[in-house]
Amino acid sequence: MKKAKLVGSLRYKNLRYTNNHPLRIPRVSLLIEFLKALNLLEEECMVESREATIEELLLFHDREYIETLIEADRCQCVPEGAREKFNIGNYENPVSPAMFRGSSLATGSSIQAAELFLKGFSAFNPAGGMHHALKSKAHGFCFINDPVITIEFLRKKGIKNVLYIDLDAHHCDGVQEAYYNNNEVFVLSLHQSPEYSFPFVKGSLEERGEGKGKGYNLNVPLPKGVNDTEYLFVLEKILTYVKDLFTPEVYLLQLGTDPLLEDPLSKFELSNVGFLEAFRLVREAFGEGVYLGGGGYHPIALARCWTLIWCEISGREAPRELNALGKEILSSVDWEEFDDDVDRSYMYEYLIDKPREGAIRKEIKELVLKIKELVYS
Ligand SMILES: [Zn+2]
Repeated sequence: MKKAKLVGSLRYKNLRYTNNHPLRIPRVSLLIEFLKALNLLEEECMVESREATIEELLLFHDREYIETLIEADRCQCVPEGAREKFNIGNYENPVSPAMFRGSSLATGSSIQAAELFLKGFSAFNPAGGMHHALKSKAHGFCFINDPVITIEFLRKKGIKNVLYIDLDAHHCDGVQEAYYNNNEVFVLSLHQSPEYSFPFVKGSLEERGEGKGKGYNLNVPLPKGVNDTEYLFVLEKILTYVKDLFTPEVYLLQLGTDPLLEDPLSKFELSNVGFLEAFRLVREAFGEGVYLGGGGYHPIALARCWTLIWCEISGREAPRELNALGKEILSSVDWEEFDDDVDRSYMYEYLIDKPREGAIRKEIKELVLKIKELVYS
């Protein structure tokens, strides 16, 4: 087994979104503190995050957009005209220390993870996976598209075929758009159907790429309420199709935790064991990859889930119950459940959820058949 590295930093603690934003919550710093409390992260496994350079940011983004982000960061204000032109300084994409410094750190870290991968390590950057950001526009809480920049970094290193797999509950519209005409980067996304979920206008089955890129984009839009059984059924089949279509030299895996039942911003109902099993399926199909974080708006669910992912990457057994320090770390998070009627006390006692299994709905079986036909026609 390759040696595992977690690229992260406690600096994210002070690089938060504004008060009422879904991303105001601690994520990466919480994960690091939680892993350390559970004795699952030794110092030698941790790589301190670095910021991306301007040149790296320009591998994808327009210069004027990046310069505006830097200016907005400096004054912590919205430069004139930027709200309309770059979609920053609104509720969705507020000006905050997270906007440029946080995003730049997350992007540098994704490149670090790719560099570590090329050196034979398996690396996880939980701050990465900001898949909505567009070339010259913030979008869906994302300012800098670290997956695209990391893919461009790898391509500059001479890597030919890159596969991008996105398990976040939301469609990866920023990444899709970047490679829609490209046959050297295959984009696969499983997500909530745009019929009822952000980004609403992208993510349908019919979007298969254009020009040279035709056939190199695959969307799997799923209905509300997807359970572990359904999700794994779909993923296993889809991965075999993608394997038939494309042979990657490297793959990136976006591991947003918002498909979990507890997440306040999604309608999927996965358990963290189901999510872990999804991770295993991808690894079985394509071997070791570059692992990125993503969405995830329930800090406790996120920390528990990525702890399981880290245990899997680093080849250690996850403890079933939390120790006293682990419980203390989770209990100290300032977080209120949206729904008071639901008892979520299990999250503070155990690391691993009970599986959320169930019947596979007819519409899901039909969707898989439809994709099969589409792919092999
Ligand atoms: Zn998401």
